[in-house]
Amino acid sequence: MMHSYTELNPDRLSLGHPLIQCQGFVFDVDGVLVRGEEIIPRSPEAIERLRRGGKKVIFISNNSTKSREEYIAKFTRIGIPVTADDLVLSTYATARYVANEKPKAKVYMVGAPGLRRELELAGLELVDDPLVADYAVVGSAFNGKGQLTPENGERITGALRALYHANAKFVATNPDRIFPAKDGVIPGTGAVIGALSYMVDRKPDAIIGKPSPYIVKIALGRLGLSASECAIVGDMDTDMLAGQGMNMTTIFVRSGAMTEEKLHSLGVTPSFAFDSVIDILELEAKGAKEK
Ligand SMILES: [Mg+2]
Repeated sequence: MMHSYTELNPDRLSLGHPLIQCQGFVFDVDGVLVRGEEIIPRSPEAIERLRRGGKKVIFISNNSTKSREEYIAKFTRIGIPVTADDLVLSTYATARYVANEKPKAKVYMVGAPGLRRELELAGLELVDDPLVADYAVVGSAFNGKGQLTPENGERITGALRALYHANAKFVATNPDRIFPAKDGVIPGTGAVIGALSYMVDRKPDAIIGKPSPYIVKIALGRLGLSASECAIVGDMDTDMLAGQGMNMTTIFVRSGAMTEEKLHSLGVTPSFAFDSVIDILELEAKGAKEK
């Protein structure tokens, strides 16, 4: 669809804005809209103004423990109205990936109830017998305190058997090795991937979360836009790499877990960098410049 300049109203991005050609914005959540329980100032306003300006927005997260239903409550609390269709979490994206590859596949899972819920919603058959599994799907096996939950302790053995005895396909929700918690880091999904990979001497067939393109492809499909029409907004190298892998415009925000110096030291250069999401809309006022 063509947007002529005459359609622009005062709430739209100004004509000289270098991001005017972006029709869709894919937002990371933690470090971009919120920091833990705290709302990053004016992030709901930024989303509202983009939507009002005719831009499409969608939210992606590597969170491997929550279903989209659970995330709707989080967004309501933040003050950003969303439906399940606006959310692409690694739980949902993983379920979609497996269902696309093999509809109604038998899945043996390690992970939280939110992952189970999304696998069920995608029409997959969750099995308790690892020997009949087509897929071993793994997410984080730990609670918020970093404790391995008793159920998942047993399920890691089940996943091992699915991979070792049944040669099930090995799919992981996200590659995050660790997760920042209040008192220090806790194990991420990487702890489960690492343990299983080492035991069976085999890497996962697919890891769905960022920086892999799978989750971004699912978000773009949902927006109905091509990668070149969209920007990804994130606070980590993984967000920028996910966008670069798809040839999207990349927007780094300094409001999250990673400094811009750290980003550059990793050899990652985003298309644009801003202090926070509201500055994306106030680019000219802030004097940010294209990289
Ligand atoms: Mg983030």
